[in-house]
Amino acid sequence: MGGWKLLSQFSKEISLAVNLVKKASEITEWFKKKGVKTYIKKDQSPATVADYSSQIYILNQLKENFPEDHVIAEENETGLIDDNSANQIRECFNHLDIANISDFKDLLNYRGQRSTRQWTIDPIDGTKGFMKGLKYAIGIGLMVNSDTKISVISVPEYNENVLAIFVAEQGQGAKASYGGKNFESIHVSNQNNLKKARLAQSLHYDLPWVTQFADKIGIEERIKMDSMAKFCLVADGSYDLYIKPIMGYRAFTWDYSPGDLLVKEAGGKVTDLDEERLVFKDEKCILRAPGIITSNGVLHDEVAVFIRNKFFSI
Ligand SMILES: [Mg+2]
Repeated sequence: MGGWKLLSQFSKEISLAVNLVKKASEITEWFKKKGVKTYIKKDQSPATVADYSSQIYILNQLKENFPEDHVIAEENETGLIDDNSANQIRECFNHLDIANISDFKDLLNYRGQRSTRQWTIDPIDGTKGFMKGLKYAIGIGLMVNSDTKISVISVPEYNENVLAIFVAEQGQGAKASYGGKNFESIHVSNQNNLKKARLAQSLHYDLPWVTQFADKIGIEERIKMDSMAKFCLVADGSYDLYIKPIMGYRAFTWDYSPGDLLVKEAGGKVTDLDEERLVFKDEKCILRAPGIITSNGVLHDEVAVFIRNKFFSI
């Protein structure tokens, strides 16, 4: 007889979300090989037809499987889906045997019902990196009253360039699957020497104080990368620290809620520079101080105090 297996309250949601990020990764990789046209959105950030296709696919599935739930999703500018893009999306879906999706614009803007259950979708996180053939991620979270219950992240070319999928559930820990292998529990590192810490930084959205911090401490091992894949690096112990400046205190749930839960469930810590935990309110990630520190927990306070004292005056 088999052993006891704890049945998760969210097992149906987790297994759907894992399938969604897997298939969405096939969509984005298909476009990556084809090449994509870039749009500049009203907020001046870039999006591609791959961002749109991934979101359309994910929302179609959520609509079918959880029609009562609310959705918070990044992309909403349907004007960017012209005939040419629509043809490309069709070609991609045909190629990947994704049937019965035709109402692209309606689906892109599908947001479900008013509900305490809120799915957060980032169809491509790290679009700038994606456009250059660099690292990016796809992130799905499920919040209940803005409290993150599950998160699922795929990174199509993670360490050693294999597809990695990360799953976390509140109170139940974090796990990962690399290159199609079985899911195994993951845990943050136990590095307690800040000088020897390995630091992940943002590639396209960094500010000089992060590098100055690393220089002052003498941190040698650094990586620059786009997307929430950096939360994954800390969660599975590949790196010990990730420091992210936030410009204008403006941050969105879909960017931070999946990584926040993943790192916490892997034993690490995520806070703003004031060491306050991240607070989500519907689509907003509310920050008191203009930066996010993600760490293995052991290094957290030392890093936060150093940054506050050296770079910010209260
Ligand atoms: Mg995005």
